[in-house]
Amino acid sequence: MKYEAVIGLEVHAEMQTNTKMFCGCPVVDSTLAKPNTAVCPVCSGMPGVLPVVNQQAVEYAMRVALALECKIAHTSLFARKNYFYPDLPKGYQISQYEYPLAEHGRLVIDTSAGERAIRICRVHMEEDTGKLTHVSPPDGNPYSLVDLNRSGVSLLEIVSEPDLHTTEEVTAYATTLRDMVRALGVNSGDMEKGVIRFEANVSIRPVGSQKLGTRVEIKNLNTFRGMERAILFEIERQSQLLDNNGHVIQETLGWDENNGVTYSQRSKEEAHDYRYFPEPDLPPLVVESEWIDRVRASLPELPRARSQRFQQQYALSVEDARMLATDTITARYFEECIALTTQIPPRTIANWLIGQIFAWFNTSDETIATLKVTPDALIALLQSLQNGEINQNTAKSVLDIMLKNGLSAAEIIQEKGLGQVSDSAQISRLVEQVLTENNKELKAYLEGKETLSNWFFGQIMRAAKGQANPQILREELERQLSKLKNN
Ligand code: ADP
Ligand code: ZN
Ligand code: MG
Repeated sequence: MKYEAVIGLEVHAEMQTNTKMFCGCPVVDSTLAKPNTAVCPVCSGMPGVLPVVNQQAVEYAMRVALALECKIAHTSLFARKNYFYPDLPKGYQISQYEYPLAEHGRLVIDTSAGERAIRICRVHMEEDTGKLTHVSPPDGNPYSLVDLNRSGVSLLEIVSEPDLHTTEEVTAYATTLRDMVRALGVNSGDMEKGVIRFEANVSIRPVGSQKLGTRVEIKNLNTFRGMERAILFEIERQSQLLDNNGHVIQETLGWDENNGVTYSQRSKEEAHDYRYFPEPDLPPLVVESEWIDRVRASLPELPRARSQRFQQQYALSVEDARMLATDTITARYFEECIALTTQIPPRTIANWLIGQIFAWFNTSDETIATLKVTPDALIALLQSLQNGEINQNTAKSVLDIMLKNGLSAAEIIQEKGLGQVSDSAQISRLVEQVLTENNKELKAYLEGKETLSNWFFGQIMRAAKGQANPQILREELERQLSKLKNN
């Protein structure tokens, strides 16, 4: 390891406001809505229109900035970033430049080497662009389609300092940030829908050096896996360049997922000169201390803190705590279950949730939000298991049915006659019956082949259709066997 990688991430997250950043158009799901159905003169760049800042967007941006421990500027400015491209009919994007909404934050991440604080450089607001679809018909001229539904949707840009050094750290940072914006209700975290997008700036330097190397910026990274592969590819490519006395060129790269390579989109010489200047149609954005304080006070518990609390309070493993704490609705469901019982340990509840219920989400199209089994119903089922009315296997099959049709455990146990047999007289009769029917094995047992007691156990359980209380069965079997032995 001659070189150390240095990585900084730029994250764009669409904010889930009802309307766009500077106009009253609704924000629609761009993968579902018909093209150009949520468009007005403002977001289609007609001359003479005036933008108006969306207050909810500012509040959402502050939520994220405060959760990232940033300092909020009482006065920030919008700026025009000028460039011409058909996805942006105005000829410029309204963004923030020299005076962003927030700066100097940090995000603590967990890696196999422990926790690390990654510095956040800035958090600012801007508007999203429209979407182009390039079409090349086999028997005609290529053309591009423009959909302006996304044009003007409020976007948050979160820029880290170049504090990341491994792909493990990059993925930890990206997932922690995505989980955070979801928990804050600002973004759905849905990478497939493109509502949160990552760009990685990558350079390398000799181990021990403090000087930053020349960086490249990698765009269109659509998955965490793709981002890791692209970064590893770049580290390798740059290392070979330096090894061969070459040098890295500062440029913007794309990631070709199919071929597993980065490719040049534009070099520094071709880089846009955006001619930023303060947006003349918007006054400075002023946020007063009371507003900042109010937003700070309203911040919910964040996934990472909740995960640590779950580990301590409920004795969960790191991984289990993370799985239950990341999503707010799941966490709430789990804690509602816990509040309903003092008899069932939180870890048992966690196991059922993570095991069978999460598996159900993977095989059905249901989520915690559509789950038919309420916390009450789940606890009632676990109660029946705990008090011996049903055994572990029966509980699993009962839960399977509950997940599908939403019936209660009691109804299913009753209807299907699944109740576990705990009646000792009944079990005693079964034991006696099986021992008499298997004379040969009984003789062998009495002559010293003691392992056969497990075989008897299996036979009796089978005779009881798996519904005998295993503990009572075991005791009764041992009692009868030792009685026979003593005779
Ligand atoms: P630009 O607009 O040119 O992309 P930004 O300031 O928006 O510049 O983003 C720069 C990003 O690149 C930040 O995330 C920063 O941490 C990262 N970065 C800057 N210098 C380096 C470097 N030498 N190596 C890796 N990342 C870097
Ligand atoms: Zn509009
Ligand atoms: Mg950049």
